Amino acid sequence: MLKVEHIGIAVKSLTDSVPLFAKLLNTECYKTEEVTGEKVNTAFFRQGETKIELLESTSEDGVIAKFVEKKGEGIHHIAFEVADIEAEMKRLQAEGFVLLNEQPKQGADNKLVCFLHPKHTNGVLIELCMER
Ligand code: ZN
Repeated sequence: MLKVEHIGIAVKSLTDSVPLFAKLLNTECYKTEEVTGEKVNTAFFRQGETKIELLESTSEDGVIAKFVEKKGEGIHHIAFEVADIEAEMKRLQAEGFVLLNEQPKQGADNKLVCFLHPKHTNGVLIELCMER
């Protein structure tokens, strides 16, 4: 894995949280994007090499809505950038990790992504991502 590409934070409202994080990080949000497949609106901040991705659900039955309902707002996932996502998926599967999607899928920020089941990663949802 190359680096921590971003940290995903589940929030109830981007309208509330974008100005909050702009103040916290002292930088403006540089991009917002809806990922319809995941039922989320995302907002990105750059902080050095790493980004902060705020995630707001667009639907009551979306994964982020369910996460916020169960655990409240907070860190949702850590994303690692990889050079070859398919090779990394194969490697991790061989090590006994469980992939939540068998094929890389389209994520926010023009990335191919794959998630690992948090049950096998000490409760931390891990995202692999690769620039397209
Ligand atoms: Zn992410």
